[in-house]
Amino acid sequence: MIDRPLELLSQNTDADLDPRDWDALRSLGHRMLDDMVDHLRDLRQNPVWQPIPPTIRERLRQPLTVEGEDPGALYQRFRDDILPYGTGNTHPRFMGWVHGGGTPLGMLAEMLAAGLNANLGGRDHAPIEVERQVIRWAADAFGLPKTAGGLLVTGSSMANFIAVLMARGAALGAAARRDGLGGARLTAYASAGVHRCVPDALDMAGIGSDALRLIPVDATFAMDTRALATAIAEDRAAGAVPFLVVGTAGSVDVGAFDDLTAIADLAERERLWFHVDGAFGALVALSPTLSPKVAGMDRARSIAFDFHKWAQVPYDAGCILVRDEADQIATFAAPSAYLTPGARGLSANAPWPCDLGPDLSRGFRALKVWFTLQAFGTERLAAVAERSCSLAGHLAARVEAEPELELLAPVPLNIVCFRYRAPPAQADALNTAIVADIQEAGLAAPSTTLIGGAVAIRAAFVNHRSRAEDADALVAGVLAAGRALVQNPLP
Ligand SMILES: *Cc1c(COP(=O)(O)O)cnc(C)c1O
Repeated sequence: MIDRPLELLSQNTDADLDPRDWDALRSLGHRMLDDMVDHLRDLRQNPVWQPIPPTIRERLRQPLTVEGEDPGALYQRFRDDILPYGTGNTHPRFMGWVHGGGTPLGMLAEMLAAGLNANLGGRDHAPIEVERQVIRWAADAFGLPKTAGGLLVTGSSMANFIAVLMARGAALGAAARRDGLGGARLTAYASAGVHRCVPDALDMAGIGSDALRLIPVDATFAMDTRALATAIAEDRAAGAVPFLVVGTAGSVDVGAFDDLTAIADLAERERLWFHVDGAFGALVALSPTLSPKVAGMDRARSIAFDFHKWAQVPYDAGCILVRDEADQIATFAAPSAYLTPGARGLSANAPWPCDLGPDLSRGFRALKVWFTLQAFGTERLAAVAERSCSLAGHLAARVEAEPELELLAPVPLNIVCFRYRAPPAQADALNTAIVADIQEAGLAAPSTTLIGGAVAIRAAFVNHRSRAEDADALVAGVLAAGRALVQNPLP
């Protein structure tokens, strides 16, 4: 509880938004900090997730005040109405989709970045150097050459989109920025397990999502590179212009890796832009035991990946890397009298990030990445990925040992797809219900996916807080929910 109302705001007609009473603001800030540190320390004692009660949802739909409210009271509403009803991805038993867990240090870095309120679109200031340093570290970690560049973006969806635009420019030349596709029938290639943001990127780039050929996968869920070669040849024969191949490093469904070396060879022969979507999987490059999975990634012309997944940087922090920064500049730089870098003063320091991507105003995402990478070092971040994979192995073994459960896909990385056995007509509905029951009980948060058309319970280990006991709790929860549903069948 906040003990006293805080006279933090000047009375309404005053246009100065700083606090009248700085000490009151300071104590509110300390209070927030203490509460959030306690919250993160005690995560395990809370439900992973709970539904938002209707009264609270209603409060979150109220119109905006005209007069302003007391910040202490607002903070109390944050504690009552928002804090308990998050996604749960900070919690050790969150295993849904692919979500990072964040760190307390990352939270503090976010506060510092907000205090600086830096705009990283351009100009000469240290925050831009911090972002460049982070990009350099990533390019080095993935084996890209000194010509490499990149940008922090919201996530891999945006990073993949930027890669498609760069590949389009490389295929059609700079004039395409002005003239559009000019009737060229560009075609792109990716495995059938590619993330949906890749067809979306082709759509947004004006190329159309149908231009993406989905290449079948083999038994390991990796792209069949012979089928890829055939598809490229067929498209060329039909008068299309193959321009891009996307290799997936860590597919969202099962965590599969395409053979990036074979794709690099083919892309070189066929003169295609070779892009890697390594949203979470690219980070295995940090681990000596896991890095063979991304052999060949260092030959990519661009790589999309996220710091907000396995690297545990708080949302959002995605990254596009490009082998040659010149490709980025050719795709995005635009002359403008108002925004031209100069030789000295605040407008020096070209190239500005606004000439490397679609955003002009950009926040200081780089600071939380910079703190996280340096505080933990590459070894501990690699250890997070390694433990995620060993937890998946542990869960897979538990599933195989339970007669009521079955694995639905191989477990090459950190993701386990399995289900509660049931007659075919009921299996999908039953497993969908099991996942919802477990989530609503606050016990764990797996998600679902389709494997070969069948509903699978999907557990992806990404959170650095997850332990074997959490995987065990999921197994116990699935068995209990499955048995209860079998006894009291769905209507
Ligand atoms: C998460 C993910 C994406 C999308 O990344 P966002 O950061 O959510 O935009 C793309 N591809 C793969 C393989 C992913 O796992």
